[in-house]
Amino acid sequence: MLLTKQQDMIVNTAKKIAKKHIAPFAKDVDEKGETPWGNLKILANNGFFGIHVPEEYGGAGADMVSHVAVVEEIAAACASTSVSLSTQALTIAPFLIAGTEEQKRKYVTPMATGQVLGSFGITESRAGSDVSGIKTTAVKEGDSYVLNGHKIFITNAGESDIYVFVTRTSKERTRGISLFVIEKGTPGLIFGKKEEKMGIRGSVTREIYLENVIVHESNRIGEEGEGFKILMNVFNETRPVVGAQATGIARGAFEYCLNYVMERKQFDKTLHQFQMVQSMLADMAMKVEASRLLVLKAAMMLDNEDPNIIANASMAKCFASDVAMEVTTNAVQLLGGNGYIKDYPVERMMRDAKITQIYEGTNQIQRVIIANQLIAKGIN
Ligand SMILES: Cc1cc2nc3c(=O)[nH]c(=O)nc-3n(C[C@H](O)[C@H](O)[C@H](O)COP(=O)(O)OP(=O)(O)OC[C@H]3O[C@@H](n4cnc5c(N)ncnc54)[C@H](O)[C@@H]3O)c2cc1C
Repeated sequence: MLLTKQQDMIVNTAKKIAKKHIAPFAKDVDEKGETPWGNLKILANNGFFGIHVPEEYGGAGADMVSHVAVVEEIAAACASTSVSLSTQALTIAPFLIAGTEEQKRKYVTPMATGQVLGSFGITESRAGSDVSGIKTTAVKEGDSYVLNGHKIFITNAGESDIYVFVTRTSKERTRGISLFVIEKGTPGLIFGKKEEKMGIRGSVTREIYLENVIVHESNRIGEEGEGFKILMNVFNETRPVVGAQATGIARGAFEYCLNYVMERKQFDKTLHQFQMVQSMLADMAMKVEASRLLVLKAAMMLDNEDPNIIANASMAKCFASDVAMEVTTNAVQLLGGNGYIKDYPVERMMRDAKITQIYEGTNQIQRVIIANQLIAKGIN
């Protein structure tokens, strides 16, 4: 038993809600390819958008362990729905790390209560893995800034009311980066095409154009030039959340698969009687369990403000998402032909799993980070 009574209570509530109100509609959400507003309302009504946010800003004031455990439950039911949870956490994080009191009250509270969605615009067509290569500019004019640029692959773009953008305020590579918050409806904030995706199809992804967007300097989050540092701290908090999402997707596929192989008969035996199938089941279960433990460890390190979080946040995200891809692929395999058919959920789960190896830093980038941390620290 790893969780405290309070953490366990929160997770059990999430589990019941996810099973009863979210899982039955996951196929529908995938097919429609639209934001599942009904599901998001359920998350909001139960306070899931602000679990780890302090109470004074509309959250539940619980810890990161509770937060990641809830994300796993929602992702096990519907990955698309869980993306709004993780993206909200991503957008809230820079405010909690570096925002002013006024910014926290104005922007964090409506996101933590789930009244509105938030989006985070980092990626550009020529700057994905290399965030410091971004070209979007924020030029100071009096007490305002003028923003120009083009962001791609932004989750919930057009659906959200609050947007955080990573911009360049000087030519210095990492020290020239600054963050700004912009509200929907601001002149020059233009939403581009909606992407047709392989998975998480119930999560909307769009381009954003910033065309002479004028914002007051009070919309800057943190100091000028501090954006890259804030962003790296944001990722330390949000990569374990993506790890939790991946663990949930893997677990959802494993549980479905286990029930299936205990019913399906071939050669006058149920599939689970074959040793080769048992071996696959054991590997899948071990890996889901190991993913959860890595995610929980990273969450505990965040709760304890452990300065060694960088490598562990990357390990949790990288391992859990590789496991999600492997376990969902094996779940499809163990369902045979049915696994490949849309009437069975593992096909969707396999498509949903893939993105967790790509966003919030690809798994190659996570391995670079882990190795750099290991080399920098050595063995003490
Ligand atoms: C569905 C979806 C939702 C997204 N949501 C958001 C969002 O809300 N906000 C946002 O800002 N972005 C978002 N992204 C963007 C996502 O974070 C990037 O796609 C991701 O970081 C990879 O960047 P890239 O696509 O430019 O790939 P590239 O950086 O071009 O990488 C291509 C390949 O090269 C590898 N590679 C690159 N550099 C190295 C290196 N140094 N060492 C080894 N391998 C390397 C990569 O691992 C990858 O395999 C989203 C993307 C998708 C698909």
